[in-house]
Amino acid sequence: MKAAPIPKNEKERLGSLYQSALLDTEPEERFDRITRTATKLFDVPISTLTLIDKKREWFKSACGIDEKEGKRAISFCGHALTADEVLVIPDTKKDARFFDNPMVIGKPFIRFFAGVPILNSDGQRIGVLCIKDTKPRKFSKSKQELLISLSAWAELEINSRNMSLALNSRRKLEAKLVIQEKEMKNARDAARNVLEDLQVEKEELTRAKAKDEALLKSIADGVVAIDQDRKIMLMNKKAEEILGWSAREMVGKSSFEVWKVADKNGKLIPKKNLPIAAAFRGKTIIADKSYFYIRKDGSRFPVSMTISPVVVKNKIVGVVAVFHDITREQEIDHAKNSFIALASHQLRTPLTSINWYTEMLLDGDTGKLTKNQRDFLNEIHIGSLRMTSLVNSLLNVSRLDIGTFIVNPEKINLILVFEEMLRESYKDIQGKKLKITTDFDNRIPSINADPNLTRIIVQNLITNAVKYTPTSGRIRIMVRQKQQNIIITVADNGYGIPKNQQNQVFTKLFRADNVKAKDTKGTGLGLYIVKSILDAIGGSISFESELNKGTTFTVTLPLQGMKKRLGTRELAFMK
Ligand code: ADP
Repeated sequence: MKAAPIPKNEKERLGSLYQSALLDTEPEERFDRITRTATKLFDVPISTLTLIDKKREWFKSACGIDEKEGKRAISFCGHALTADEVLVIPDTKKDARFFDNPMVIGKPFIRFFAGVPILNSDGQRIGVLCIKDTKPRKFSKSKQELLISLSAWAELEINSRNMSLALNSRRKLEAKLVIQEKEMKNARDAARNVLEDLQVEKEELTRAKAKDEALLKSIADGVVAIDQDRKIMLMNKKAEEILGWSAREMVGKSSFEVWKVADKNGKLIPKKNLPIAAAFRGKTIIADKSYFYIRKDGSRFPVSMTISPVVVKNKIVGVVAVFHDITREQEIDHAKNSFIALASHQLRTPLTSINWYTEMLLDGDTGKLTKNQRDFLNEIHIGSLRMTSLVNSLLNVSRLDIGTFIVNPEKINLILVFEEMLRESYKDIQGKKLKITTDFDNRIPSINADPNLTRIIVQNLITNAVKYTPTSGRIRIMVRQKQQNIIITVADNGYGIPKNQQNQVFTKLFRADNVKAKDTKGTGLGLYIVKSILDAIGGSISFESELNKGTTFTVTLPLQGMKKRLGTRELAFMK
Protein backbone atom coordinates (compact mmCIF):
# COMPACT_ATOMS: atom_id res chain seq x y z
CA MET A 1 0.00 0.00 0.00
CA LYS A 2 1.14 3.46 -0.73
CA ALA A 3 0.31 6.21 1.70
CA ALA A 4 -1.49 9.25 0.34
CA PRO A 5 1.13 11.77 -0.78
CA ILE A 6 1.56 15.19 0.93
CA PRO A 7 1.47 18.04 -1.57
CA LYS A 8 4.44 20.47 -1.75
CA ASN A 9 2.37 23.44 -0.74
CA GLU A 10 0.74 21.57 2.18
CA LYS A 11 1.07 24.55 4.57
CA GLU A 12 -0.70 27.01 2.30
CA ARG A 13 -3.25 24.32 1.37
CA LEU A 14 -4.08 23.69 5.03
CA GLY A 15 -4.24 27.44 5.63
CA SER A 16 -6.81 27.75 2.87
CA LEU A 17 -8.79 24.77 4.25
CA TYR A 18 -8.93 26.29 7.71
CA GLN A 19 -9.85 29.63 6.25
CA SER A 20 -12.89 28.05 4.59
CA ALA A 21 -14.15 27.19 8.09
CA LEU A 22 -15.84 24.01 6.86
CA LEU A 23 -14.06 21.42 8.98
CA ASP A 24 -16.12 19.89 11.77
CA THR A 25 -19.23 21.82 10.86
CA GLU A 26 -22.73 20.34 10.77
CA PRO A 27 -23.89 18.50 7.59
CA GLU A 28 -25.55 20.80 5.07
CA GLU A 29 -28.27 19.94 2.62
CA ARG A 30 -26.63 21.87 -0.21
CA PHE A 31 -23.64 19.50 -0.06
CA ASP A 32 -25.66 16.38 0.76
CA ARG A 33 -27.65 17.07 -2.42
CA ILE A 34 -24.44 16.73 -4.43
CA THR A 35 -23.30 13.39 -2.92
CA ARG A 36 -26.86 12.01 -3.21
CA THR A 37 -26.94 13.03 -6.87
CA ALA A 38 -23.56 11.36 -7.42
CA THR A 39 -24.67 8.00 -5.99
CA LYS A 40 -27.79 8.06 -8.14
CA LEU A 41 -26.09 9.31 -11.26
CA PHE A 42 -23.28 6.79 -11.18
CA ASP A 43 -25.28 4.07 -9.41
CA VAL A 44 -22.72 3.63 -6.66
CA PRO A 45 -23.34 2.90 -2.96
CA ILE A 46 -20.95 5.57 -1.63
CA SER A 47 -20.17 9.16 -2.44
CA THR A 48 -18.37 11.63 -0.17
CA LEU A 49 -17.34 15.24 -0.26
CA THR A 50 -14.08 14.84 1.63
CA LEU A 51 -11.89 17.53 3.13
CA ILE A 52 -8.24 16.55 3.61
CA ASP A 53 -7.00 17.74 6.99
CA LYS A 54 -3.45 17.41 8.25
CA LYS A 55 -3.83 13.83 9.54
CA ARG A 56 -7.34 12.83 8.56
CA GLU A 57 -9.93 12.85 5.87
CA TRP A 58 -13.17 14.47 7.08
CA PHE A 59 -16.48 14.14 5.33
CA LYS A 60 -18.39 17.34 4.90
CA SER A 61 -21.02 15.17 3.22
CA ALA A 62 -21.17 11.37 3.06
CA CYS A 63 -23.72 9.27 1.33
CA GLY A 64 -23.65 5.52 1.96
CA ILE A 65 -21.37 5.43 4.99
CA ASP A 66 -21.83 6.37 8.61
CA GLU A 67 -18.26 7.36 9.44
CA LYS A 68 -17.49 10.99 9.82
CA GLU A 69 -13.78 10.71 9.13
CA GLY A 70 -10.86 8.36 8.38
CA LYS A 71 -7.08 8.35 8.41
CA ARG A 72 -5.47 10.47 5.74
CA ALA A 73 -2.64 7.99 5.11
CA ILE A 74 -4.93 5.23 3.96
CA SER A 75 -7.49 7.48 2.36
CA PHE A 76 -8.30 7.21 -1.35
CA CYS A 77 -9.24 10.84 -1.43
CA GLY A 78 -5.76 11.65 -0.10
CA HIS A 79 -4.44 10.27 -3.35
CA ALA A 80 -7.07 11.94 -5.49
CA LEU A 81 -6.14 15.31 -3.90
CA THR A 82 -2.98 15.55 -6.00
CA ALA A 83 -4.46 14.06 -9.21
CA ASP A 84 -4.35 16.08 -12.42
CA GLU A 85 -8.09 16.04 -12.92
CA VAL A 86 -9.75 12.79 -11.94
CA LEU A 87 -8.24 9.80 -10.15
CA VAL A 88 -9.94 6.64 -11.33
CA ILE A 89 -9.17 3.22 -9.83
CA PRO A 90 -11.31 0.71 -11.70
CA ASP A 91 -10.21 -2.19 -9.49
CA THR A 92 -8.46 -1.52 -6.27
CA LYS A 93 -7.22 -5.03 -5.96
CA LYS A 94 -5.27 -4.61 -9.13
CA ASP A 95 -3.64 -1.39 -8.08
CA ALA A 96 -0.33 -1.60 -6.26
CA ARG A 97 -1.21 1.51 -4.24
CA PHE A 98 -4.46 0.11 -2.86
CA PHE A 99 -4.70 -3.66 -3.08
CA ASP A 100 -3.78 -4.15 0.59
CA ASN A 101 -5.52 -0.95 1.81
CA PRO A 102 -7.49 -1.70 5.00
CA MET A 103 -10.62 -0.31 3.36
CA VAL A 104 -10.10 -2.70 0.47
CA ILE A 105 -9.39 -5.78 2.45
CA GLY A 106 -11.81 -4.81 5.20
CA LYS A 107 -14.92 -2.69 5.53
CA PRO A 108 -16.30 -1.10 3.36
CA PHE A 109 -14.42 -3.40 0.86
CA ILE A 110 -13.79 -0.74 -1.74
CA ARG A 111 -13.10 -2.06 -5.22
CA PHE A 112 -13.78 1.05 -7.28
CA PHE A 113 -12.86 4.64 -6.69
CA ALA A 114 -13.16 7.85 -8.70
CA GLY A 115 -12.36 11.24 -7.22
CA VAL A 116 -11.95 14.86 -8.38
CA PRO A 117 -9.97 17.46 -6.34
CA ILE A 118 -12.05 20.37 -4.96
CA LEU A 119 -10.44 23.79 -5.21
CA ASN A 120 -11.04 26.67 -2.84
CA SER A 121 -11.56 30.15 -4.26
CA ASP A 122 -7.85 30.85 -3.88
CA GLY A 123 -6.98 27.79 -6.05
CA GLN A 124 -5.82 25.59 -3.17
CA ARG A 125 -6.94 21.94 -3.18
CA ILE A 126 -8.86 21.45 0.02
CA GLY A 127 -10.76 18.23 -0.64
CA VAL A 128 -12.13 15.66 -3.05
CA LEU A 129 -15.56 14.72 -4.38
CA CYS A 130 -15.53 10.93 -4.82
CA ILE A 131 -17.62 7.91 -5.55
CA LYS A 132 -16.85 4.39 -4.33
CA ASP A 133 -18.19 0.99 -5.14
CA THR A 134 -17.68 -2.45 -3.67
CA LYS A 135 -17.39 -3.89 -7.20
CA PRO A 136 -14.78 -3.08 -9.83
CA ARG A 137 -16.09 -0.81 -12.55
CA LYS A 138 -15.21 0.95 -15.69
CA PHE A 139 -15.50 4.71 -15.69
CA SER A 140 -15.83 6.28 -19.13
CA LYS A 141 -14.53 9.70 -20.10
CA SER A 142 -18.05 11.10 -20.28
CA LYS A 143 -18.74 9.83 -16.75
CA GLN A 144 -15.50 11.37 -15.60
CA GLU A 145 -16.66 14.70 -17.06
CA LEU A 146 -19.97 14.30 -15.27
CA LEU A 147 -18.08 13.78 -11.97
CA ILE A 148 -15.97 16.87 -12.75
CA SER A 149 -19.20 18.83 -13.26
CA LEU A 150 -20.45 17.66 -9.88
CA SER A 151 -17.15 18.72 -8.29
CA ALA A 152 -17.57 22.15 -9.93
CA TRP A 153 -21.01 22.31 -8.33
CA ALA A 154 -19.46 21.48 -4.93
CA GLU A 155 -16.81 24.17 -5.50
CA LEU A 156 -19.54 26.65 -6.29
CA GLU A 157 -21.29 25.83 -3.03
CA ILE A 158 -18.04 26.10 -1.05
CA ASN A 159 -17.14 29.41 -2.60
CA SER A 160 -20.61 30.82 -2.31
CA ARG A 161 -20.42 29.93 1.37
CA ASN A 162 -17.00 31.49 1.54
CA MET A 163 -18.35 34.53 -0.19
CA SER A 164 -21.28 34.80 2.18
CA LEU A 165 -18.88 34.21 5.04
CA ALA A 166 -16.61 36.87 3.67
CA LEU A 167 -19.61 39.10 3.12
CA ASN A 168 -20.79 38.40 6.59
CA SER A 169 -17.46 39.08 8.20
CA ARG A 170 -17.13 42.16 6.05
CA ARG A 171 -20.51 43.30 7.24
CA LYS A 172 -19.45 42.57 10.79
CA LEU A 173 -16.20 44.34 10.15
CA GLU A 174 -18.08 47.29 8.72
CA ALA A 175 -20.42 47.31 11.71
CA LYS A 176 -17.39 47.12 13.95
CA LEU A 177 -15.79 49.94 12.01
CA VAL A 178 -18.95 52.01 12.41
CA ILE A 179 -18.87 51.36 16.16
CA GLN A 180 -15.19 52.10 16.30
CA GLU A 181 -15.69 55.24 14.29
CA LYS A 182 -18.48 56.23 16.69
CA GLU A 183 -16.32 55.50 19.69
CA MET A 184 -13.49 57.48 18.17
CA LYS A 185 -15.86 60.31 17.49
CA ASN A 186 -17.06 60.19 21.09
CA ALA A 187 -13.46 60.12 22.31
CA ARG A 188 -12.63 62.99 19.97
CA ASP A 189 -15.68 64.93 21.22
CA ALA A 190 -14.76 64.22 24.84
CA ALA A 191 -11.17 65.30 24.19
CA ARG A 192 -12.43 68.42 22.44
CA ASN A 193 -14.73 69.17 25.37
CA VAL A 194 -11.86 68.71 27.81
CA LEU A 195 -9.69 70.96 25.64
CA GLU A 196 -12.45 73.55 25.42
CA ASP A 197 -12.92 73.40 29.21
CA LEU A 198 -9.20 73.72 29.68
CA GLN A 199 -9.13 76.66 27.31
CA VAL A 200 -11.97 78.34 29.21
CA GLU A 201 -10.20 77.62 32.51
CA LYS A 202 -6.94 78.92 31.09
CA GLU A 203 -8.65 82.09 29.91
CA GLU A 204 -10.29 82.52 33.31
CA LEU A 205 -6.96 81.96 35.04
CA THR A 206 -5.25 84.41 32.72
CA ARG A 207 -8.00 86.94 33.39
CA ALA A 208 -7.76 86.39 37.17
CA LYS A 209 -3.96 86.64 36.98
CA ALA A 210 -4.17 89.85 34.97
CA LYS A 211 -6.62 91.20 37.53
CA ASP A 212 -4.35 90.22 40.43
CA GLU A 213 -1.37 91.74 38.67
CA ALA A 214 -3.26 94.97 37.96
CA LEU A 215 -4.36 95.03 41.59
CA LEU A 216 -0.84 94.40 42.83
CA LYS A 217 0.52 97.08 40.54
CA SER A 218 -2.04 99.63 41.65
CA ILE A 219 -1.25 99.09 45.35
CA ALA A 220 0.69 102.07 46.58
CA ASP A 221 2.58 99.91 49.07
CA GLY A 222 5.39 97.51 48.32
CA VAL A 223 4.22 93.89 48.26
CA VAL A 224 6.57 90.91 48.42
CA ALA A 225 5.41 87.30 48.67
CA ILE A 226 7.71 84.62 50.02
CA ASP A 227 7.18 80.88 49.64
CA GLN A 228 7.70 78.04 52.12
CA ASP A 229 11.38 77.77 51.23
CA ARG A 230 11.84 81.43 52.15
CA LYS A 231 12.29 82.25 48.46
CA ILE A 232 10.87 85.43 46.99
CA MET A 233 7.92 84.47 44.81
CA LEU A 234 6.72 87.79 43.55
CA MET A 235 7.08 91.50 44.13
CA ASN A 236 5.12 94.40 42.76
CA LYS A 237 6.38 97.52 40.99
CA LYS A 238 6.21 99.61 44.14
CA ALA A 239 8.38 97.11 46.02
CA GLU A 240 10.93 97.31 43.18
CA GLU A 241 10.86 101.08 43.44
CA ILE A 242 11.23 101.14 47.22
CA LEU A 243 13.94 98.50 47.51
CA GLY A 244 15.90 99.36 44.38
CA TRP A 245 16.00 95.69 43.34
CA SER A 246 14.18 94.55 40.21
CA ALA A 247 11.80 91.59 40.41
CA ARG A 248 14.15 89.78 38.00
CA GLU A 249 16.98 90.13 40.51
CA MET A 250 14.94 89.15 43.54
CA VAL A 251 12.38 86.53 42.49
CA GLY A 252 13.63 83.01 43.16
CA LYS A 253 16.32 84.18 45.58
CA SER A 254 16.33 83.47 49.30
CA SER A 255 14.62 86.40 50.98
CA PHE A 256 17.35 86.59 53.65
CA GLU A 257 20.02 86.90 51.00
CA VAL A 258 18.82 90.01 49.23
CA TRP A 259 16.43 91.62 51.62
CA LYS A 260 18.35 93.03 54.57
CA VAL A 261 16.68 94.59 57.57
CA ALA A 262 18.40 96.78 60.18
CA ASP A 263 17.40 98.32 63.49
CA LYS A 264 17.39 102.08 64.17
CA ASN A 265 21.10 102.02 64.99
CA GLY A 266 21.91 100.49 61.60
CA LYS A 267 22.70 97.03 63.00
CA LEU A 268 21.57 94.13 60.78
CA ILE A 269 18.82 92.12 62.40
CA PRO A 270 19.71 88.42 62.62
CA LYS A 271 17.61 85.96 60.59
CA LYS A 272 15.77 84.45 63.53
CA ASN A 273 14.64 87.84 64.86
CA LEU A 274 13.29 89.07 61.54
CA PRO A 275 9.56 89.74 61.29
CA ILE A 276 9.46 87.23 58.39
CA ALA A 277 10.70 84.48 60.69
CA ALA A 278 7.96 85.34 63.20
CA ALA A 279 5.37 85.30 60.40
CA PHE A 280 6.50 81.78 59.46
CA ARG A 281 5.81 80.87 63.09
CA GLY A 282 2.21 82.04 62.50
CA LYS A 283 2.30 85.61 63.81
CA THR A 284 1.19 88.72 61.99
CA ILE A 285 3.69 91.48 62.57
CA ILE A 286 2.65 95.09 62.30
CA ALA A 287 5.57 97.41 62.85
CA ASP A 288 6.56 100.96 62.22
CA LYS A 289 9.52 102.97 63.44
CA SER A 290 11.56 100.00 64.66
CA TYR A 291 12.65 98.53 61.32
CA PHE A 292 14.80 99.87 58.53
CA TYR A 293 15.13 98.24 55.11
CA ILE A 294 18.37 98.39 53.21
CA ARG A 295 18.17 99.23 49.54
CA LYS A 296 20.27 97.63 46.82
CA ASP A 297 22.66 100.59 47.01
CA GLY A 298 23.13 100.04 50.76
CA SER A 299 21.15 103.08 51.88
CA ARG A 300 18.72 102.69 54.77
CA PHE A 301 15.15 103.89 55.27
CA PRO A 302 12.49 103.47 57.95
CA VAL A 303 9.53 101.26 57.04
CA SER A 304 6.06 100.71 58.22
CA MET A 305 5.11 97.12 57.48
CA THR A 306 2.63 94.36 57.95
CA ILE A 307 3.94 90.85 57.54
CA SER A 308 1.41 88.06 57.67
CA PRO A 309 1.50 84.31 57.15
CA VAL A 310 -0.46 82.81 54.23
CA VAL A 311 -2.34 79.87 55.64
CA VAL A 312 -3.84 77.18 53.40
CA LYS A 313 -5.57 74.23 55.08
CA ASN A 314 -4.00 75.05 58.43
CA LYS A 315 -0.53 75.07 56.93
CA ILE A 316 1.67 78.13 56.51
CA VAL A 317 2.57 78.09 52.83
CA GLY A 318 4.21 81.48 52.67
CA VAL A 319 4.37 85.00 53.93
CA VAL A 320 3.24 88.30 52.43
CA ALA A 321 4.93 91.54 53.36
CA VAL A 322 3.24 94.88 52.68
CA PHE A 323 5.37 97.91 53.42
CA HIS A 324 6.09 101.51 52.66
CA ASP A 325 8.90 103.96 53.18
CA ILE A 326 8.06 106.29 56.08
CA THR A 327 11.07 108.60 55.76
CA ARG A 328 8.80 111.50 54.83
CA GLU A 329 6.30 110.79 57.67
CA GLN A 330 9.17 110.64 60.12
CA GLU A 331 10.54 113.95 58.85
CA ILE A 332 7.12 115.56 59.23
CA ASP A 333 6.75 114.02 62.71
CA HIS A 334 10.13 115.35 63.67
CA ALA A 335 9.34 118.81 62.37
CA LYS A 336 6.03 118.79 64.25
CA ASN A 337 7.68 117.69 67.47
CA SER A 338 10.38 120.34 67.11
CA PHE A 339 7.70 122.98 66.61
CA ILE A 340 5.75 121.86 69.66
CA ALA A 341 8.95 121.78 71.69
CA LEU A 342 9.80 125.30 70.62
CA ALA A 343 6.29 126.70 71.08
CA SER A 344 5.85 125.12 74.53
CA HIS A 345 9.21 126.35 75.57
CA GLN A 346 8.33 129.88 74.50
CA LEU A 347 5.06 129.65 76.42
CA ARG A 348 6.73 128.61 79.64
CA THR A 349 8.33 131.96 80.46
CA PRO A 350 5.16 134.12 80.27
CA LEU A 351 3.23 131.39 82.13
CA THR A 352 5.78 131.39 84.93
CA SER A 353 5.33 135.18 85.26
CA ILE A 354 1.54 134.89 85.29
CA ASN A 355 1.70 132.23 88.02
CA TRP A 356 4.19 134.17 90.01
CA TYR A 357 2.29 137.48 89.88
CA THR A 358 -1.13 135.93 90.59
CA GLU A 359 0.34 134.14 93.59
CA MET A 360 1.77 137.48 94.81
CA LEU A 361 -1.61 139.17 94.36
CA LEU A 362 -3.41 136.30 96.12
CA ASP A 363 -0.93 136.47 99.01
CA GLY A 364 -1.92 140.10 99.51
CA ASP A 365 1.52 141.43 98.61
CA THR A 366 -0.11 144.42 96.91
CA GLY A 367 -2.80 145.03 99.47
CA LYS A 368 -6.03 143.52 100.58
CA LEU A 369 -8.34 142.09 97.90
CA THR A 370 -12.11 142.23 97.75
CA LYS A 371 -13.94 138.86 97.59
CA ASN A 372 -14.67 139.34 93.90
CA GLN A 373 -11.05 140.15 93.09
CA ARG A 374 -9.89 137.07 95.03
CA ASP A 375 -12.39 134.82 93.21
CA PHE A 376 -11.30 136.11 89.78
CA LEU A 377 -7.64 135.80 90.65
CA ASN A 378 -8.19 132.24 91.87
CA GLU A 379 -9.74 131.34 88.48
CA ILE A 380 -6.78 132.91 86.69
CA HIS A 381 -4.38 131.01 88.92
CA ILE A 382 -6.10 127.61 88.33
CA GLY A 383 -6.19 128.27 84.55
CA SER A 384 -2.56 129.23 84.36
CA LEU A 385 -1.51 126.18 86.46
CA ARG A 386 -3.48 123.98 84.08
CA MET A 387 -1.81 125.62 81.12
CA THR A 388 1.61 125.13 82.70
CA SER A 389 0.81 121.47 83.20
CA LEU A 390 -0.29 121.14 79.55
CA VAL A 391 2.77 122.99 78.27
CA ASN A 392 5.02 120.77 80.37
CA SER A 393 3.27 117.67 79.12
CA LEU A 394 3.61 118.79 75.51
CA LEU A 395 7.26 119.54 76.05
CA ASN A 396 7.77 116.10 77.54
CA VAL A 397 6.01 114.41 74.61
CA SER A 398 8.17 116.17 72.06
CA ARG A 399 11.36 115.52 74.03
CA LEU A 400 10.45 111.84 74.31
CA ASP A 401 9.53 111.61 70.61
CA ILE A 402 12.63 113.42 69.41
CA GLY A 403 14.73 111.53 71.91
CA THR A 404 16.38 114.54 73.52
CA PHE A 405 15.41 113.77 77.14
CA ILE A 406 17.97 113.19 79.84
CA VAL A 407 18.14 110.16 82.12
CA ASN A 408 20.21 110.93 85.16
CA PRO A 409 20.03 108.02 87.61
CA GLU A 410 20.79 108.30 91.30
CA LYS A 411 19.99 106.05 94.27
CA ILE A 412 16.36 106.54 95.23
CA ASN A 413 13.90 104.85 97.54
CA LEU A 414 10.77 104.14 95.54
CA ILE A 415 8.55 103.97 98.60
CA LEU A 416 9.57 107.50 99.58
CA VAL A 417 8.62 108.67 96.09
CA PHE A 418 5.17 107.15 96.56
CA GLU A 419 4.75 108.76 99.96
CA GLU A 420 5.80 112.15 98.56
CA MET A 421 3.40 111.91 95.63
CA LEU A 422 0.54 110.81 97.90
CA ARG A 423 1.23 113.85 100.06
CA GLU A 424 1.01 116.07 96.97
CA SER A 425 -2.41 114.64 96.13
CA TYR A 426 -3.56 114.80 99.75
CA LYS A 427 -5.95 117.69 99.15
CA ASP A 428 -7.77 115.90 96.33
CA ILE A 429 -7.85 112.61 98.24
CA GLN A 430 -9.33 114.35 101.26
CA GLY A 431 -11.78 116.29 99.10
CA LYS A 432 -13.17 113.08 97.62
CA LYS A 433 -12.97 111.10 100.89
CA LEU A 434 -10.99 108.38 99.17
CA LYS A 435 -9.68 105.45 101.17
CA ILE A 436 -6.07 104.73 100.31
CA THR A 437 -4.35 101.51 101.37
CA THR A 438 -0.70 100.94 100.74
CA ASP A 439 1.17 97.68 100.78
CA PHE A 440 4.87 98.47 100.41
CA ASP A 441 7.49 95.78 100.75
CA ASN A 442 10.06 97.49 102.93
CA ARG A 443 12.80 95.08 101.89
CA ILE A 444 12.91 96.63 98.45
CA PRO A 445 16.38 98.08 98.01
CA SER A 446 17.07 101.58 96.77
CA ILE A 447 17.33 101.60 92.99
CA ASN A 448 19.42 103.55 90.62
CA ALA A 449 16.78 105.63 88.87
CA ASP A 450 16.19 109.14 87.59
CA PRO A 451 14.12 110.76 90.43
CA ASN A 452 12.37 113.11 88.02
CA LEU A 453 11.23 110.35 85.65
CA THR A 454 10.23 108.12 88.58
CA ARG A 455 8.15 110.92 90.01
CA ILE A 456 6.41 111.48 86.68
CA ILE A 457 5.48 107.79 86.52
CA VAL A 458 4.25 107.52 90.14
CA GLN A 459 2.46 110.86 90.03
CA ASN A 460 0.49 109.90 86.92
CA LEU A 461 -0.63 106.59 88.36
CA ILE A 462 -1.78 108.23 91.61
CA THR A 463 -3.47 111.28 90.11
CA ASN A 464 -5.29 109.14 87.54
CA ALA A 465 -6.60 106.80 90.26
CA VAL A 466 -7.68 109.81 92.29
CA LYS A 467 -9.28 111.62 89.31
CA TYR A 468 -11.14 108.60 88.00
CA THR A 469 -12.52 107.25 91.26
CA PRO A 470 -15.73 108.79 92.64
CA THR A 471 -16.18 110.11 96.17
CA SER A 472 -15.64 107.51 98.93
CA GLY A 473 -13.89 105.17 96.52
CA ARG A 474 -10.92 102.99 97.36
CA ILE A 475 -7.39 103.01 96.01
CA ARG A 476 -4.91 100.27 96.80
CA ILE A 477 -1.21 100.74 96.07
CA MET A 478 1.24 97.86 96.14
CA VAL A 479 5.00 97.84 95.62
CA ARG A 480 6.70 94.43 95.56
CA GLN A 481 9.79 92.77 94.26
CA LYS A 482 9.49 89.91 91.84
CA GLN A 483 12.73 88.35 90.62
CA GLN A 484 14.72 91.06 88.88
CA ASN A 485 11.86 93.58 88.80
CA ILE A 486 9.89 95.87 91.03
CA ILE A 487 6.19 95.50 90.42
CA ILE A 488 3.95 98.46 91.15
CA THR A 489 0.17 98.10 91.13
CA VAL A 490 -2.30 100.92 91.59
CA ALA A 491 -5.85 99.60 91.78
CA ASP A 492 -8.98 101.69 92.12
CA ASN A 493 -12.67 100.89 92.21
CA GLY A 494 -13.53 103.88 90.03
CA TYR A 495 -15.10 104.57 86.65
CA GLY A 496 -13.07 102.09 84.65
CA ILE A 497 -12.23 102.27 80.93
CA PRO A 498 -14.76 101.12 78.30
CA LYS A 499 -13.64 97.85 76.66
CA ASN A 500 -13.88 99.22 73.11
CA GLN A 501 -11.47 102.07 73.92
CA GLN A 502 -8.93 100.17 75.95
CA ASN A 503 -6.57 99.71 73.01
CA GLN A 504 -6.12 103.50 72.77
CA VAL A 505 -5.18 104.18 76.39
CA PHE A 506 -1.46 104.70 75.68
CA THR A 507 -1.93 106.84 72.55
CA LYS A 508 -1.41 110.59 72.50
CA LEU A 509 -4.34 112.79 73.59
CA PHE A 510 -6.66 109.89 74.35
CA ARG A 511 -9.39 110.48 76.90
CA ALA A 512 -12.13 107.90 77.36
CA ASP A 513 -15.72 108.96 76.70
CA ASN A 514 -16.94 107.97 80.17
CA VAL A 515 -14.67 110.44 82.00
CA LYS A 516 -14.43 113.41 79.63
CA ALA A 517 -17.44 115.11 81.27
CA LYS A 518 -16.51 114.12 84.84
CA ASP A 519 -12.97 115.45 84.74
CA THR A 520 -12.29 118.35 82.44
CA LYS A 521 -8.71 118.87 83.49
CA GLY A 522 -7.09 115.87 81.77
CA THR A 523 -4.84 116.28 78.76
CA GLY A 524 -4.68 112.69 77.52
CA LEU A 525 -0.90 112.85 77.52
CA GLY A 526 0.03 111.38 80.92
CA LEU A 527 -0.06 107.68 80.11
CA TYR A 528 1.57 108.21 76.71
CA ILE A 529 4.47 109.91 78.51
CA VAL A 530 4.63 107.20 81.20
CA LYS A 531 4.73 104.43 78.59
CA SER A 532 7.33 106.23 76.48
CA ILE A 533 9.58 106.62 79.56
CA LEU A 534 9.13 102.97 80.54
CA ASP A 535 9.83 101.80 76.96
CA ALA A 536 13.02 103.84 76.98
CA ILE A 537 14.31 102.53 80.32
CA GLY A 538 13.37 98.86 79.83
CA GLY A 539 10.25 98.83 82.00
CA SER A 540 6.65 98.15 81.03
CA ILE A 541 3.08 99.13 81.83
CA SER A 542 -0.23 97.29 81.46
CA PHE A 543 -3.72 97.51 82.93
CA GLU A 544 -6.96 95.69 83.51
CA SER A 545 -10.19 97.58 83.70
CA GLU A 546 -13.91 97.05 83.91
CA LEU A 547 -16.43 99.81 83.42
CA ASN A 548 -17.75 101.18 86.73
CA LYS A 549 -15.88 98.50 88.67
CA GLY A 550 -12.35 99.85 88.57
CA THR A 551 -8.95 99.81 87.01
CA THR A 552 -5.62 98.27 87.98
CA PHE A 553 -2.41 99.59 86.43
CA THR A 554 0.72 97.46 86.73
CA VAL A 555 4.18 98.90 86.15
CA THR A 556 7.37 96.87 86.00
CA LEU A 557 10.67 98.58 86.77
CA PRO A 558 13.93 96.70 86.39
CA LEU A 559 15.65 96.28 89.75
CA GLN A 560 18.95 97.15 88.15
CA GLY A 561 17.58 100.65 87.58
CA MET A 562 17.93 103.02 84.65
CA LYS A 563 20.88 103.58 82.38
CA LYS A 564 22.31 107.09 82.12
CA ARG A 565 21.25 108.94 78.99
CA LEU A 566 23.01 112.06 77.82
CA GLY A 567 20.09 114.01 76.44
CA THR A 568 19.84 117.76 76.14
CA ARG A 569 16.57 118.43 78.01
CA GLU A 570 15.08 117.24 81.25
CA LEU A 571 11.48 116.07 81.28
CA ALA A 572 9.31 118.54 83.12
CA PHE A 573 7.28 117.65 86.14
CA MET A 574 3.77 117.96 84.84
CA LYS A 575 1.31 118.82 87.59
P1 ADP B 1 -5.53 112.32 81.40
O1 ADP B 1 -4.82 113.60 81.51
O2 ADP B 1 -6.81 112.44 80.65
O3 ADP B 1 -5.72 111.66 82.72
P2 ADP B 1 -3.91 110.06 80.79
O4 ADP B 1 -3.03 109.79 79.63
O5 ADP B 1 -3.28 110.01 82.13
O6 ADP B 1 -4.62 111.41 80.51
O7 ADP B 1 -5.08 109.00 80.75
C1 ADP B 1 -5.73 108.77 79.53
C2 ADP B 1 -7.15 108.30 79.74
O8 ADP B 1 -7.14 107.01 80.31
C3 ADP B 1 -7.90 109.10 80.75
O9 ADP B 1 -8.46 110.26 80.18
C4 ADP B 1 -8.96 108.13 81.20
O10 ADP B 1 -10.00 108.06 80.26
C5 ADP B 1 -8.21 106.83 81.17
N1 ADP B 1 -7.70 106.49 82.53
C6 ADP B 1 -6.43 106.58 82.96
N2 ADP B 1 -6.31 106.13 84.23
C7 ADP B 1 -7.57 105.73 84.61
C8 ADP B 1 -8.12 105.15 85.80
N3 ADP B 1 -7.37 104.90 86.88
N4 ADP B 1 -9.45 104.86 85.79
C9 ADP B 1 -10.21 105.11 84.73
N5 ADP B 1 -9.75 105.64 83.58
C10 ADP B 1 -8.44 105.95 83.52
